[in-house]
Amino acid sequence: MADTATPKPGHIRLTSHSGGSGALPIRWGAATAAERGPVVGTTGTRAHRNVIGTHSGSYSVYRALAVAAGALSRAHRADLTNTAPTDPIGPYEQWGDADKIVSLDPWGATVADAFAAELAAGYDIRPTIAVTKAHVILPEIADAIAKGRLQPDGRHLLASGAAVVTKAALEPVWYLPGVAARFGCSETELRRVLFEETGGMYPELVTRGDLEVFLPPIGGQTVYIFGAARDLADPSVELTARVHDECNGSDVFGSDICTCRPYLTHAIEECIQGAQRGGVGLVAYSRKEGRALGEVTKFLVYNARKRQEGGDTADQYFARTECVAGVQDMRFQELMPDVLHWLGIRKIHRLVSMSNMKYDAITGSGIEVGERVNIPDELVPADARVEIDAKMAAGYFTPGDVPDADELRKVKGRGLDG
Ligand SMILES: [Zn+2]
Repeated sequence: MADTATPKPGHIRLTSHSGGSGALPIRWGAATAAERGPVVGTTGTRAHRNVIGTHSGSYSVYRALAVAAGALSRAHRADLTNTAPTDPIGPYEQWGDADKIVSLDPWGATVADAFAAELAAGYDIRPTIAVTKAHVILPEIADAIAKGRLQPDGRHLLASGAAVVTKAALEPVWYLPGVAARFGCSETELRRVLFEETGGMYPELVTRGDLEVFLPPIGGQTVYIFGAARDLADPSVELTARVHDECNGSDVFGSDICTCRPYLTHAIEECIQGAQRGGVGLVAYSRKEGRALGEVTKFLVYNARKRQEGGDTADQYFARTECVAGVQDMRFQELMPDVLHWLGIRKIHRLVSMSNMKYDAITGSGIEVGERVNIPDELVPADARVEIDAKMAAGYFTPGDVPDADELRKVKGRGLDG
C-alpha cells in the first residue's frame, strides 16, 4: 500500500478521492458499537478514513501547526492506558436511533473497549468523548453558602465550598443526512454550502457522497453532572438542568452587559440543591460564543448598541445585532438536544432557562419538561436589563410581566464612557 503513516515531505495527500480499501463502514444509528463501527478520522493511514475532516474540532488546526513546527510526529498514536471514563454513561436506547442523535458519536467515550480488536489491528481510533471527575469552586456558590441558601453536605457540596461533579467533554461528529433533516434542507445542499462557506475547506463534502460523517472544525460541548450520572436516564429522579451557550465575556470575565454568568451560577446553585434533594443536576455548556456569531461580531454589536441615537435601549437590542450579523442568532438549537439523548434523558423536571428556542428544541425532540425556572431579578446586573427585557418582549418565557414597546424604549444601558 502506497499510503503510509509517515508520508514523505512534499507529498500532498489529496482527500477528494477514495484512498482505496481498508476503511471500516459506519452504520449510523445501529444498536451496538460493533454494528455501528468506529469513527476513523486519522490523518495518518488515509485508506482507513471513513469520515470527512479530522478529530478535535477547531483544535485540529493547532495539531497541524504542531506538525508544521516539527513538535509533533504525524505518526503519533494516542496511548489510551487509564483514560477510560470515570463513570459509565449508557448505552441507552436513544443511541440506536439515527434520528435522535446526529451531531455526536454516542460510542465516542468507549472506543478503547468497544473497538479493541480494530485498534489492535492498526486502526487509529480516537475517543471523541471523555468523562472525568472534578471539584468546582465558584465565588457565587461560596456566597450562597455564606448567605445560608446552600449547606455543605460533604457529598455534593464540600465544606470548602467545592461542588463535586462528573464532567464530560464532547467533540462534534455530524451524521450529514441527519443534520440536513434537522435543518430542513437536502443533504446535497448542506454539503455544497458547508464546502463553499468554509472557503472550500473539505472537498470530500462534494466529491465523496459515500462518506456520510463529518468532523466539523468547530467547538464542542461540556456537560457538568451534579449527583449520579446514571440518574439522568431515570425519569423518576428529579432532574434540574440548564443548557448554556458560551459567553466568555460574562461567563469567565464577569462582564455586566448580559446575564450569562449570573444565569450559569444560578443554575449551578439549583443543580446542587436538586442533587441534595436526592435528584440530579446537569449543566450542558456549548461552545457557541456570542450566539455563535463569535466575539468580534459581538463586540461590534455592543458598540453599535451603545453609540446609536438615543443610546442602548431594549427596543433596539435585536435590530443592532441583525444590522451587523445579518441575523439575530446563529445558535440554532436544532442539534442541542443530542447531548441530552446521549445521557439517556427522558424528562427534565426543572429547566433553568427562559429561552423558548431551547424549550421548543428539547420538547420537540421528545423530552418532557416540567417546571421552567427563571433567573431571580436580583441577579440581573443593571446594564443587562436591556438584554433581558428585550428577550422577554421577544417571547422568552417569563412568569412575570412582559414589558411593552413604551417600556422597552425606557430600558437603557450604560454609555461607552460610563
Ligand atoms: Zn453573555
